[in-house]
Amino acid sequence: MGCCFLLADGDASVLIDTGMVGEPFFIARLIRKLGLTPQAIKAILLTHGHLDHAGNLAWLAEWTGAKIYAHPDEQAHVDGTFPYQGINRWCGRLEAAGRFLFRYRPARIDAFLADNQELPFWGGLRVIHLPGHTRGHCGFYSVKHNLLFSGDMFASYFFNVHKPPAILNSVPEQFPASVERIRRLAPRLIVPNHFDVLDGELHRRRFGRLYCLPDWAGPTKQKKHLTHRRW
Ligand SMILES: [Zn+2]
Repeated sequence: MGCCFLLADGDASVLIDTGMVGEPFFIARLIRKLGLTPQAIKAILLTHGHLDHAGNLAWLAEWTGAKIYAHPDEQAHVDGTFPYQGINRWCGRLEAAGRFLFRYRPARIDAFLADNQELPFWGGLRVIHLPGHTRGHCGFYSVKHNLLFSGDMFASYFFNVHKPPAILNSVPEQFPASVERIRRLAPRLIVPNHFDVLDGELHRRRFGRLYCLPDWAGPTKQKKHLTHRRW
């Protein structure tokens, strides 16, 4: 199921992605619980336009009046018109069924995102273009918190840390460059869209293991390294 984040910041709060079925109830309840009004949400940032991320986009944009920000290449995904090719056609078929079942409505992107663009939300968020999963897939990096919202670069669950399945990736040949981009950015915390616990350090270690970044491997390997050095 989809997942979204509410970055609470008073009257300038922001949503990253919008989730899928059932989530309008939780989003509305969370906004009330935080003492916010729907109008306090000033922007909806989309990592990409897959159905589990854009499922409630039209409803949320109407309910909050927030502007929708996304990479221009994601409009076709949001519209359900992206020309999926090869094995990736399965993604299109699953989305088509989902759109029908959940009575999905598309929405227009109000502001197109570009790589390295600085957004004035949550103390500053930088757009990190990370193509591979989709052409316009973007992460959002908070300099203040040294934290990267990494979208669907990977999913991070206790028993199952994995790359997105091949059927869901539109430009897989661009994946390695996006992993390298994150390695060079070296955020202290990483939060993917699909995860078990909200622990950015843990997800960073898992990302490092998944994509073979030895320096990011985590405490176990560091301990071994120290032991080795004593000898
Ligand atoms: Zn996706």
